[in-house]
Amino acid sequence: MTSGESCDERTPAFSDLIEKLRAGKPAVWINPRRQGGNRFDADTAAEQIRGAEDLWQRFAPAIACLFDMPGGSGRIHSPLLECPITLVHGSPVYVKADHALPVTACVKARGGIYALLRVLEDIAGRSGLLEGIESYETLAREPARKVFAEHTVVIASTGNLGFSVGVVATAFGLRAEVHMSDCAKAWKKNRLRTLGATVVEHASDYTATVGAARASAASRRNTHFIDDENSWDLFLGYAGAGCELAAQLESAGVEVSIERPLVAYLPCGVGGAPGGITYGLKTVFGDAAICVFAEPTDAACMLLALAAGEGSAPSVYDAGLGNRTAADGLAVSRASLLVLDKIRNEIDAAVAVPDGDMLAWVHRAWREMSVKLELSAAAGFAAVEPFLEFLSGLPDGHRSDTQFANVASAVHIVWTTGGNLMPDQVFERQLRATSAADLR
Ligand SMILES: *Cc1c(COP(=O)(O)O)cnc(C)c1O
Repeated sequence: MTSGESCDERTPAFSDLIEKLRAGKPAVWINPRRQGGNRFDADTAAEQIRGAEDLWQRFAPAIACLFDMPGGSGRIHSPLLECPITLVHGSPVYVKADHALPVTACVKARGGIYALLRVLEDIAGRSGLLEGIESYETLAREPARKVFAEHTVVIASTGNLGFSVGVVATAFGLRAEVHMSDCAKAWKKNRLRTLGATVVEHASDYTATVGAARASAASRRNTHFIDDENSWDLFLGYAGAGCELAAQLESAGVEVSIERPLVAYLPCGVGGAPGGITYGLKTVFGDAAICVFAEPTDAACMLLALAAGEGSAPSVYDAGLGNRTAADGLAVSRASLLVLDKIRNEIDAAVAVPDGDMLAWVHRAWREMSVKLELSAAAGFAAVEPFLEFLSGLPDGHRSDTQFANVASAVHIVWTTGGNLMPDQVFERQLRATSAADLR
């Protein structure tokens, strides 16, 4: 690759970044946001997010009927935990515990289930199931199930998206067909088969698997493809997390402002989950939200796309990387163009972290917080130190005119994205591993 050489002294040169990534070392790219960029329209976004929230509300009685949930509310929200580990001296750190989301125990519950609910509502509407009903609870029962059973939802997944969509689809009676890439873990495939989903295994990486699944779904009747690389519904499902977090911070008495910004550390694969969450956070908090994407060094597709600049999303192979990571949820070779198109200018930083650092955080989160994380879900923790170290290494003048000027007084939110439903023996194996290579 030749393009994208940085001419801004605040952002590291493209070639230096690639060199670090190839060496498996932490790398940081920051968005100096000098030009202002094409910021999205916050009013439009707020309206879109309200619309998504309405859909969640409509379906809540059906979800409460199908799943055992805390409080029986049918709302898929995660706790906000105070982090007992001193991560940043003098600053509060919270954990947004999506590893413990009801129903699926991973962040994909937000986007994946939302996208599926859109499909369900669409089928229900076209089949006359919504006429005269008082509550969507009806959709969880016969005769709605018989109608849904005529339909198949197709998804490509490294594991968690397939599970999140599959568990809810099969609960409503739909058939689920999940196409899985070569990095998918055996226990994630087995969990899907137990649900009654069809698992189609591919000997290719995630990007190629999404393409194969899309093609396979294209010509079939009553078949609905949820496109992880390219779905506005998925994106919007994640965005609801912004309002949820704002309400939790308010009840915790935590005020967020430009003077006291919020820094969110978000594990990133194709970018849909962290991208949608960023969309939600920026809609609620504006410039007071600083969004940091965290990726494995060998699969740092978002960092590469951001550093390469407008109009391109290079694959990690183009940069001489291998997409070799034990963090299966983040093992993605090319970032989503939809996400780049929507919020390229909103992503404040991308941090690439070595697998070993994620593994160390899986251990610490378990020992010091009794929190059960899968490797991918620890990327946010692993990104905090390299990010803050990078900022502190910048000369003052280079920081003070950016969105990072007040990071010293920030509230930090580490987003943990999955792991609570890992089978004990799989989790124990992860704890026994001395190097992440043992887990690949
Ligand atoms: C999918 C996933 C992510 C990242 O989501 P993308 O939409 O692929 O960026 C992060 N953590 C876990 C555990 C995941 O399963």
